[in-house]
Formats: sequence, structure tokens, C-alpha cells
Amino acid sequence: MPSAKPRLFQNGRIASTASPELRAADVLVDGNGVIVAIGEGLSAPEDAELIDCSGCVLVPGMFDLHVHAREPGQEHKETLATCAAAALRGGVTGVVLMPDAAPPIDSGPLVKSAMDLVSELSPIPMHQSGCLTKGREGKEMAAFSGMASRGVPLLTDADRPVPCPDLMRRCMEYARDFDLLVASHTDTPALSKAGAVNEGNVSYRFGLPGIPAISQEIAIDRDIRVAQHTGARLHLQQISTARGLKSVQIAKEAGTLVTCEVSPHHLVLTEQDLRDYNTHFKFNPPLRPAADVEALVAGFIDGSIDVLASDHAPHTEFEKSSDFGSAPFGAAGLETAVPVIHDRFIRAGVFGWDLLIERYSAAPRRLAGFAPVAIAEGEKAEFFVFDPESETPVTRETMKTKSPVTPFLGKTLAGRVCGTALGGEWYGQG
Ligand SMILES: [Zn+2]
Repeated sequence: MPSAKPRLFQNGRIASTASPELRAADVLVDGNGVIVAIGEGLSAPEDAELIDCSGCVLVPGMFDLHVHAREPGQEHKETLATCAAAALRGGVTGVVLMPDAAPPIDSGPLVKSAMDLVSELSPIPMHQSGCLTKGREGKEMAAFSGMASRGVPLLTDADRPVPCPDLMRRCMEYARDFDLLVASHTDTPALSKAGAVNEGNVSYRFGLPGIPAISQEIAIDRDIRVAQHTGARLHLQQISTARGLKSVQIAKEAGTLVTCEVSPHHLVLTEQDLRDYNTHFKFNPPLRPAADVEALVAGFIDGSIDVLASDHAPHTEFEKSSDFGSAPFGAAGLETAVPVIHDRFIRAGVFGWDLLIERYSAAPRRLAGFAPVAIAEGEKAEFFVFDPESETPVTRETMKTKSPVTPFLGKTLAGRVCGTALGGEWYGQG
């Protein structure tokens, strides 16, 4: 039995990884949520809902490999429902949840209960990852086999590095044997200490403790070397330095099984954007100098950076309102990622939708063990409608996350996600 009425998306232009060119076409989705026809001038079934996509781009649903949904345990910051609403507003139709829930997801039974909660509360697929170490404490390996049998897409200690190289070695040996991806937070706590911003001109000017670039660079080099030694698959999270990226490029040339991700904020903001001690700009890793950002953009285009990931990490405005040194790291990112990248790069012709789809839809799905999605006949409907001529105002009122804390607050971004189709559902964004 069809569960929804058919929908005809009319006069849109379809984006894909195949080419920067867009294909003008209508897309017909049947009542089962399957794309049954693509072509110009399609006629609509009698009971179909017509969705006018004139001037708009139809884009395969994005997939975010790095999301902190805060539930269970920190529902004052975000819930699975508000996280999913933020994702849909941003054109994101699937995410990997970080395991830093309370309690941390470090065993098969905890993965199962987290996934049960997701199927109850989230309208979009959310895949629970597991911890590398028990309780994310960096002391003992977590129970890999139980988590592997529950199908975790990756293991990570979520914004904490594994401090001991011997423990990381054993984690990677087991991960290799279970064919699990190890996602590593690239930081060396002995160097970053209580740092709050990038160490350099800005930290000196603001009188804030700095996080030196070598804190990330040494962590990247160590984990690459351990991956080479063990043969494990390594994914480096939140690359932010040119020198760190260079290490990844050298390792890839040597055939190491390493991939890496960058966040939208590290691609479009520099440490110079930090003004008035605004804690919405406090990230770990921190915003870096312009030379690093230029290298990251080049790496994003040439493929040495594989994945865009938001590091969606909501904190309440109250938590972020403390002084810069003690405010938590991170911000909401799911609903601004696509408009930010469109605003800065796609609109300016720096790269096309094909590149963004590869980095934010296809590659992260492949890394997590899923098939990429495409707008094609016979496929499930999983795409969003983007109007490049419209705008996304980033305000407390318009944001869907429970914690509208973002460095883009108060900005108006060029382009807007008008709605997201997922199977038989259509989440129009007003
Ligand atoms: Zn994170």
C-alpha cells in the first residue's frame, strides 16, 4: 500500500557527482517514496502534489559524519528530534552520531539502546558510532566485538584523542580485525592544555591561552604512523592546519588507508573573525590563520580532504555565555553547512554542486559503509530542493536546533533549502 500521495517536482535542475552541469527535469516520486520518472514536461498523476522547483536545484541528500545530538543525557542542549529538524532544514538526510552521550556509548547493549531511541524519535536515519575506549576515558579499550555486531559505522572517542600511543595501537589492531573505521580527534592535550583559541597573534592580542598548530600536527603524524603500522583504516576529524593536511597528502601518496574531514567553519572563517570575545567562534580545533584556510580550501577541491562534516555540537546560550576561557567548544552546524558552502564557494563559481555532493553526501556515506544516494529512476527519494536566489536568515527564530549558537548567527546566507524529500515524506521549510 502506498503510504503517501505522489509528488511531482516540476521545472527543477538536478545536481549529481557526474558533472558540474545541472540537468533540467521534472522528478516524479510515487506514493511509496520511489523516484519513478525523470524528464522534461512530465504529466502528473491526478492525485499528485505539485511542487514548483523553478529556478531551484535538486540535490542528493547530504550525510554528516560528525554530529553530537546530545540525547541521551544532555537534552537541555539538543534532542534527537530537534537535531533531525535541523538536519532536514539543512538538506541532511543521514548522520553519524558521536558516542559522547551520557553515559558514553561504549558497548553493544548501549549501541542497541541508542539505536532504539533513534528509531523512536528521529525521522531521519541516524547511525550510532561507538567509543574507542571505555567511558571515553582513554585508559582501556572499549568492547569492540559487541559494537561491531551492532553495526557501528565507526569508532571514535568523540572530541577526545586517545592519549596513549600503545592504547591507540591496540585499538587500531582490533579495529582492523573487525574492519571498523577509527575516527581520531587530532589533538595533543599536553600541547593544547587549557587553550581556547589558535596560538598566535590573536591569542596574544586577546590575552587568551593558545592552542598551537603542532598540537594537531603531532596528533595527525602519530595516528597516521600507527595506522601504517597496524593496517587499520583511519579517519582524521576536523583537519584545520596546512601542515597537518600536508601529512595526510604524503600518507595518501604512500598508500596509507587514511581519510580526513573539514568543517564548514574551518573553510570559511579565520582566527581574525574572532571579535569581542564571542564564544560562538570558540572551536576545538580552533579557527586558524588565513594561510591554513587557503590550504584547506585547496585540499577540499583537490580531494586530499575527503569529507565535509559539520561537527554539529550544540551548547545552550547560557553555557556559551560564560567567559571565553571556560565556555565549551563547538556550535550548531547542521542547518548552516550547505548554505554556508553555497554562499562562499558555489555561488562564486569556486566549485560546483558536484564537488559538494561528493564531499558531503557520497564520500561520507561510503566511509560509513553505505551506498551513495542519487536522484535517479528506481531510487528512493532522498534529495533537497535548493533555491540559489533565495536567502537563509540565521536567527534564533528560524533555526531548528534547540541551541541556536553559531558563528553565523545574525548573518543572511545566499541560497536556501526549500524542503527535503525523504522516501514518501516531504519536509517543506516554509
Ligand atoms: Zn565533535
